[in-house]
Amino acid sequence: MKTGYLIDMDGVIYRESQLIPGVTEFMEALLISGQPFVFLTNNSAPTPDDLSVRLGHLGLPGFSIRHFYTSALNAADFLSETHPACTAFVIGEGGLLAALHERKIANDTINPSYVVVGEGAVSGERLAKAHSCVERGARLLATNPDNWCPVSSVDTRPGAGATAAFLEASTGRRAYYLGKPNGYMFHRARQKLQEMTGGSALNQIVMIGDTMETDIRGGIEAGLQTYLVLSGSTQVDNLSDYVYQPTRVLKSVADLTEELRSGKPSDRLDSPVYAQVMRRAGKPGGKYQTDTARALKPRPRAPMTR
Ligand SMILES: [Mg+2]
Repeated sequence: MKTGYLIDMDGVIYRESQLIPGVTEFMEALLISGQPFVFLTNNSAPTPDDLSVRLGHLGLPGFSIRHFYTSALNAADFLSETHPACTAFVIGEGGLLAALHERKIANDTINPSYVVVGEGAVSGERLAKAHSCVERGARLLATNPDNWCPVSSVDTRPGAGATAAFLEASTGRRAYYLGKPNGYMFHRARQKLQEMTGGSALNQIVMIGDTMETDIRGGIEAGLQTYLVLSGSTQVDNLSDYVYQPTRVLKSVADLTEELRSGKPSDRLDSPVYAQVMRRAGKPGGKYQTDTARALKPRPRAPMTR
């Protein structure tokens, strides 16, 4: 049975500049299992080479660039497929510039077809230039919708979503957001996985991520299995705030190592929320991977009047 894995990076593989415990063994087991996998990240700043080098420094050397798919590559794929002759004014870093360059999308500061907003530092001058390009008719595209990104366990920095929101406010135009959870990101990632299998069909595809709004939502909407890991941005107590729920909830990817080694999928397929609901309904709760705090937290009633 072939399973393809799409694996988010920040909060799943590493946090800050440290590997999450158990990731080395998980990746070894995944490589030995021969199942295809792609690291799927909304960070449009690095190139696949940068990411491979970064993993090498963290203790996971030797990953080929074909194992990485970023929101920058997604933006470049999108533009080259839908509007190959377009030009772009870019707010972003090396990963985005390189991806557009590779797809022969020219940089244009005079009359671009698109303003493309990615992750990274931005100056007031670049924002003003982007603003006037949009006012003159350029379409506004963002590589990903993330408003902020973690830089340490306590600090964050503004993300591409925040920069795009600035331009939406100043121009009155709505941006189009690629990256997770956009279906085009998953469509292309699925294609990449399929290329790795040499044409043989995949029985299932699993998205492993730490963020409900991007990884889990996008995975569900693309018809994939979704595994939420609690090693990153989501606390189990917040799960009940979401309409959509992951197929499984794991403490980290280390929970998957044994079943990858044995080739036997775990029977613990219920998320805690589901198990909780079943227990309340008087039905036997399924086994589940995490036995952390109660997932259905009490909710204050909305005020009756404003
Ligand atoms: Mg993440």
